[in-house]
Amino acid sequence: MTRSISILGATGSIGASTLDLIRHNRGDWQVEALTANCSAKKLAAVAREFEARIAVVGDVACLGDLREALDGSGIEAAGGAQALCEAAAQPVDMTVAAIVGCAGLAPTMAAVERGGTIALANKEALVSAGEILKSAVTQAGATLLPTDSEHNAIFQCLAGNDIAQVRKITLTASGGPFRTLDAEALKSVTREQALKHPNWDMGAKITVDSATMMNKGLEFIEAHHLFPVGLDNIKIIVHPQSIVHSMVEYRDRSVLAQMGPSDMRVPIASCLAWPERMETPLEPLDLAAIGTLTFEATNEELFPATRICREAIEAGGAAPAVLNAANEIAVEAFLADRIAFTRITAVVEETLARYSAPQPATLEDVLAVDAGARIRARDALESSTFV
Ligand code: NDP
Repeated sequence: MTRSISILGATGSIGASTLDLIRHNRGDWQVEALTANCSAKKLAAVAREFEARIAVVGDVACLGDLREALDGSGIEAAGGAQALCEAAAQPVDMTVAAIVGCAGLAPTMAAVERGGTIALANKEALVSAGEILKSAVTQAGATLLPTDSEHNAIFQCLAGNDIAQVRKITLTASGGPFRTLDAEALKSVTREQALKHPNWDMGAKITVDSATMMNKGLEFIEAHHLFPVGLDNIKIIVHPQSIVHSMVEYRDRSVLAQMGPSDMRVPIASCLAWPERMETPLEPLDLAAIGTLTFEATNEELFPATRICREAIEAGGAAPAVLNAANEIAVEAFLADRIAFTRITAVVEETLARYSAPQPATLEDVLAVDAGARIRARDALESSTFV
């Protein structure tokens, strides 16, 4: 039976992996909406290939290019923040939420409020608005399927089991490209080095987040919202091979781990087919060729991001939204060669120290906190030593 799907963030890395799975199972899917920010030509190309009904750019200034690229295709084109939410609210069997950053929050919320099934890759939405998003899920009767590889692994390890029987959840982290460096060497790493992840091929923002370990910190907060086992029972361990994607330990000390190739098409396929399974075009895992799986403790002296995230979620209120916004600004500045790598987490900490806001109660509150924290983070950038 054909199922309908919308992909928010179709021109990104998760978007491309999702579309590749659809390409290999073309008859199973009918594409409704595909969205991007401003990659109009790329969006038009995939919209034509997958015969989407509608293509939307978040940046309205790019709508002219999109219309031109879609000319004669019969595909509807739209642009702007409101159009993104309207596209996300169209009824479909599956929505893949893969916009990067807090920019994905409102469209993800629109899909949730429609009561749909959402494969959630956009972790920043959950970090910034965890409680609000979760209560919208409950109210609308929506289904959230974790797409992040670690959370998808935990979801799979929990299947058929009672979460009350869980003693501990362990998120695995590759450690990123700088895992073996010392404090001195870390000060002078470049943007190009940070963008070379040892195991995963991902968008620029999450690749830098992996290098600072902020990605694992954000995932810690994400895990807290998805799997209510208590903050003290969520742990992080470095596993440089990225084969074990995470683990669940039960009361009897039995540990279930999910393994697979380091390719996002695996967790995405698990969401697309849920609760069934589907074929993927990937080579099977060859453990004999991999040979060794190793594990080591995190080093929070050198990579403080996981500590900062833990403190932010413990503090609660607006802190996670402030943290996320500050990190987005700091990563953007690092990618523009404006600050040193080690300043990223410092800017986040400085912003958290300078900016406090009341507990957000609505989506609009979260967006206001996000906007305020961005201003403070930019101040923190200006007042600090540039490279
Ligand atoms: P990419 O940077 O590769 O893609 C981001 C997508 O979001 C693009 O389609 C981009 O459009 C769109 N976008 C960016 N900004 C906006 C905006 N302001 N409004 C509307 N759309 C926007 O990111 P990834 O695919 O790597 O990551 C997407 C999400 O999935 C992130 O939250 C990330 O943390 C999460 N994730 C990613 C993984 C991966 O392997 N890549 C693994 C696990 C989670 P345009 O092309 O026009 O800029």
